[in-house]
Amino acid sequence: MLIPNQDEGVVRIDRAAGVARDLHGERAGDLQRLVDMGLPCPATVALSVLKVHQIAEGMRFNAAGMVNAFGHDPLVTVLPSSGQRAWGGPREFPDVGLNAPLHAAMAATLGRAEADRRWFDFILRYATDVACLDAEPFEEVAGQPRAALRIYEEEAGEPFPQDPAEQLSKVISSMASAWEGVTARLLRHAQGAPLDAGLALLVMDHRWSMARGAIATGTARMFDPVTGQKRINGTVRTVVDAEDLDEGLETAFRDRVPDIYYAIAGILETGRTGLREDRAYHFVHTCDGLQLLDAVPPVCSARVVLNNAISLVQAQVITREDALLRIAPTALAGFLHPQVPPDAARKPIFTGVAASPGGATGRIVFTADAAAACAAREEPCILVRRETNPEDVRGMHLAQGIVTERGGMTSHAAVIARGLGVPCITGASSVDVLPETGQMVLRDGRVLKEGDEITIDGTHGEAHLGEIVMTPADDDPAFLEFMSWADEARDIGVRANADTPADAAHALAFKAEGIGLCRTEHMFFEPSRLTVMREMIFASSEPDRRAALDRLLPMQRSDFRALFETMAGLPVCIRLFDPPLHEFLPMDREGRMNLARSLDLSLSAVTKRIDAISEFNPMLGMRGVRLGIMHPEIYEMQVRAILEAAIEAAEKVGTPVEPEIMIPLVAGRSEVRLVKTRMDSVAAGVRVATGREVNYRLGVLVETPRAALCAGEIAEYAQLLSFGTNDLTQMTYGLSRDDVSRFMKAYVAQGALTLDPFEKLDFKGVGELIRIAAERGRETNPGIHLSICGEHGGDIETIDFCRKAGFSYVSCSPFRVPIARLSAAQLAIRARVQDAASPK
Ligand code: PEP
Ligand code: MG
Repeated sequence: MLIPNQDEGVVRIDRAAGVARDLHGERAGDLQRLVDMGLPCPATVALSVLKVHQIAEGMRFNAAGMVNAFGHDPLVTVLPSSGQRAWGGPREFPDVGLNAPLHAAMAATLGRAEADRRWFDFILRYATDVACLDAEPFEEVAGQPRAALRIYEEEAGEPFPQDPAEQLSKVISSMASAWEGVTARLLRHAQGAPLDAGLALLVMDHRWSMARGAIATGTARMFDPVTGQKRINGTVRTVVDAEDLDEGLETAFRDRVPDIYYAIAGILETGRTGLREDRAYHFVHTCDGLQLLDAVPPVCSARVVLNNAISLVQAQVITREDALLRIAPTALAGFLHPQVPPDAARKPIFTGVAASPGGATGRIVFTADAAAACAAREEPCILVRRETNPEDVRGMHLAQGIVTERGGMTSHAAVIARGLGVPCITGASSVDVLPETGQMVLRDGRVLKEGDEITIDGTHGEAHLGEIVMTPADDDPAFLEFMSWADEARDIGVRANADTPADAAHALAFKAEGIGLCRTEHMFFEPSRLTVMREMIFASSEPDRRAALDRLLPMQRSDFRALFETMAGLPVCIRLFDPPLHEFLPMDREGRMNLARSLDLSLSAVTKRIDAISEFNPMLGMRGVRLGIMHPEIYEMQVRAILEAAIEAAEKVGTPVEPEIMIPLVAGRSEVRLVKTRMDSVAAGVRVATGREVNYRLGVLVETPRAALCAGEIAEYAQLLSFGTNDLTQMTYGLSRDDVSRFMKAYVAQGALTLDPFEKLDFKGVGELIRIAAERGRETNPGIHLSICGEHGGDIETIDFCRKAGFSYVSCSPFRVPIARLSAAQLAIRARVQDAASPK
C-alpha cells in the first residue's frame, strides 16, 4: 500500500513503521507489534496524536491521498487509539467510503438486504455524528437507504457526499473534535486519563467485509476467561447466515470450519510468544484468509491473569519476575474468597452460566440500595437482578455474590464481577426475578423473598438454599506456587497480627512468617473470661487481684500455648495488656446490675468503682505500660503464662520456643527498665520452678512520639522496636482515631489533608518520627529488629518505606498477608531492575 501523501504524523503500519504507543496510542502500538510478528492484519494508516489534535484545531490534511492508498473503491473503518485503552475515545466508524456504486457492488456479493442495512447505517451515522442532524427522521425510515439519502439532502441542504475522500476527511475531523469536547475530557479524566491526553486515529482497510462467500468474524483467546485454564475458545459469528457460535470455537467451529480453527490456533501461539501475554484477538476470516483486527488485553479476574502468567512462565515466554509484576497486589483479594467445597452436598435450586468463580453465602437483595444497607449492617448479601447496568455497580461492589436472570459469559454482570473477583451466576433463566415485589420465583414454583439466605457457586454456576461451609481459596495450587515465587523475590518479612489461635491458623494458611502482634486483651472478651476479668478489675486489694489473676493464668497459658503450637516454631510477638480497664466494664444500667449480681455487690458499689476508674481521656490515660507499672501483678501473670506456655509448647513443636514480649504505650527508658526488671524476675521464678530456661526477646511498641524520639535510650533494653502506627498517628496529629471518621472525608475534600492518615501512613510527619527512631535505635543497638504492626503494615507504600529503612518485617491482618507478600516482591524486583539500569 502506498501513501502518496506522506504527511507528517501519518504513517502506514508495516514492518518498517515507527508506530509508537506514546505517539499513536495503545491500539496502534499493539497492531504494530502484530505486524512486526508477521501476523496478517488489514492495511492500516495511523494518524498521530499531534496530527489528530491539529485536525481538531481545523488544520487541513490530504484525505484524498490517504483514501487512495486503499485502492479503487476504498472502504475503511476509522478507529480510536488513545494512550490507554481504558481512556476510551469516539466510537469506531465503519464503512467510510460507502457510496452508491459500492452499495450496488455490495448487494451483488452480500445480498440486497445486507447491503441496504449497511448503507442505511452508514448514512445515519454520518448524518448524526458528522453533519450533526437529528436521528429521528432517519429512524422513521429505518433500513431504507434511499429514503435516508432524501432526508439527508432535505435536512443538510446538500446531497449526501459520495466522494470517499470527503467522507474520510469529515469523519476524521468529527472524531478529532469529539475527543476534545468538554464532556469527553471529563469522562476520560474520570477513567484516570490526564486532562491533556491525546487521541490518535487508525484508518483500517474494511474491504474484507465485501468479500463474496462465507465470512466469519469473532474473538479468540487461548485461555478460559473464568478459570484461566489454557484452552482455545471465543465467539464466532458467521456473517452470511448471522449465526452466533458463542464460546464454540473449540467444539462446533473446529468441527465445522477446521481450517479457520487451526489458522487461529497458530496465530494465538505466535501472538502469546510475541506479545508475551495472552490477548483476546478480534479476527475476520474471508475467502482470502484470516486477518487480525485487534489484540485486546482481556478483562478478567486476577485468578485468570495469574493462571495466564503461570502458563507463560511454564512456556518460558516470560520470567517468574515478569509474572509477579503482572498482578495488582490488591487483586489477590479475589483469591481469598472461599469456594464451595467440591464434596458439599449439592441440591441446586437453580443453575446458570458460571460467570465468575468463588462461593458466597448471603441474604437475597434486589437493589443496589438494599446491598448498601446490608453492607452497612455488615450482613453478607447476594445481589439478584434481571440483568445489571452501570447503576448497579455500586451494589455489585458491596455484595458478596451476584446473580442475573439474563446474560451470559460476557454480559455486564459477568465482566464486572470477574473484574471484582466476586462470585457470579448469569443467565439463570429458570428463575423469574421480580424486583418490584421483592421476590424470585423458582422453576418449581417456590418463591424466595428478599432476606432469604442462599449460597452461590460461581465456579459451577449453581445456587443452593441456605449456607454452605466454604473452603478457603488459597488452597488453589496455582496461587500457592505463584506466592512461593513472591516469597523468593521479596527482601522483607511479612508477619500477621493475630490475637487468637483461630487467627493464627489463618496467618499460617496465608504463609505469614510469624505473628507480629498478638493483642492479648482480645483473649478476655469471651463471656466466661470476662467475668473473671471483671473480678480482677473490681478487686479492692492486691491479694484479691492476684487471686483473680491466678484464675486467668491457666486460660492465658493455654491461649499462648495454642498460639505457639499453631505457629510451629515461627516467631510470635505477644503484646502485654494495653487498653484502659474500664473497657471491660458494662456501660448501661442493665449490664451493671448483672455485674452486681454476679460479683455479689450492690449496684451502687459497682457504679462507684466504675466511676473511680473512668477517665476523661482514657486513650491517654491508665493504659498500656502505665497499667502494667501501677498493677504489676497483671503483667507478671501474663509473662508467667507466656514463659510456661513456651516451655509446654516446645515439646510439641520440637524446638525451643523463644517468645517475643512487647510492652505497649511506652514513653521512655525508665518504664522499659522497670518492666524488664520485673519480667526478668518472673523468668527467674519460672526457671527455678520448672528447671527450664526460656529465652525471650523484649519488644517495645513505639507508638508515642516521645518513645520515637527516645528510641536510642529505649533500644538499650529492647531487641525489637515495633511501630504502632495507629496510636503514633493519633498522637502525632493529636487526632482521635476513634472519632476521626466523623469529619475526615470532608476534611480531605476541602484539601486540609491530602489523605486520611489512618488509611495511608503520613510519611512526612509520622514517617519522620519513625525514621528518627530507627536511626537512634540502631545507633545504640545496631542489631535491633525494626518493624511496623499498625494497620498501615499491609499497604504497599508503607512496605516500600520499611524496605528502604531496612526493617525486618511488616505485620498486618491475616487476610492482607498475601497482598503484602506480593507487594514486597514487586518492590524488590523493581528496585533490582532500577539498580541494574542505573549507571555504576
Ligand atoms: C497501634 O497503635 O498501632 C497498635 C499496633 O496497637 P493498637 O492498634 O492495638 O492500639
Ligand atoms: Mg496502640
